[in-house]
Amino acid sequence: MSRFSDSRLLVATHNAGKHEEIAALLSPYGVEVVSAAALGLDVPEETETTFAGNARIKAHAAARAAGIPALADDSGLCVDALDGAPGVHTADWAETPTGRDFTLAMTRLWRALEQAGAPEPRRARFRCALVLAWPDGREETFEGEIAGRITWPMRGEQGHGYDPIFQPDGHEETFGEMDRWEKNRLSHRADAFARLVAACFA
Ligand code: IMP
Repeated sequence: MSRFSDSRLLVATHNAGKHEEIAALLSPYGVEVVSAAALGLDVPEETETTFAGNARIKAHAAARAAGIPALADDSGLCVDALDGAPGVHTADWAETPTGRDFTLAMTRLWRALEQAGAPEPRRARFRCALVLAWPDGREETFEGEIAGRITWPMRGEQGHGYDPIFQPDGHEETFGEMDRWEKNRLSHRADAFARLVAACFA
């Protein structure tokens, strides 16, 4: 396992929210977190069939281009009765000619479950892969997940993406009804980050 001993880490995301979240998580470890957007790096195509595979593409492309270690994540929702779909295509299910529409994506998911005659509870999990890559080609991969069920109708205005139809195990609220602090403590991303920090930073 490679410990992180550099002074700077590139976060291979163009999403300002993710950049801030990662910078806050790593602030206790004295690492300067630089964003791919700030360096004007290109976004590579995500052509793999797994979350780890796509995170690996993004992390290595960024580390090579910038010459410093880079961290990338990839995540999505996997539904048991749909053989793991939408999986790596989670964001694609929201695509429309005028941008992403997650109400449409959630409706598509619910219709697919109805068409499949999926029994309740409709088991699902959010999954997240994090890859830390160095310019010399070394890499470390960490995966996290949170299990729960798909509920209908949508509930809650908080969060993003598919949060209003995902109810994590052991909770009555959907992610969309939970406050941000509680969701961020439970989430697949928190799980993967805890593994990364324990292995490479703590
Ligand atoms: P990416 O990792 O940014 O590519 O995210 C893929 C897609 O998965 C996002 O567009 C969201 O739709 C979905 N997703 C990932 N994490 C969450 C979450 O915590 N809540 C709801 N949707 C999520």
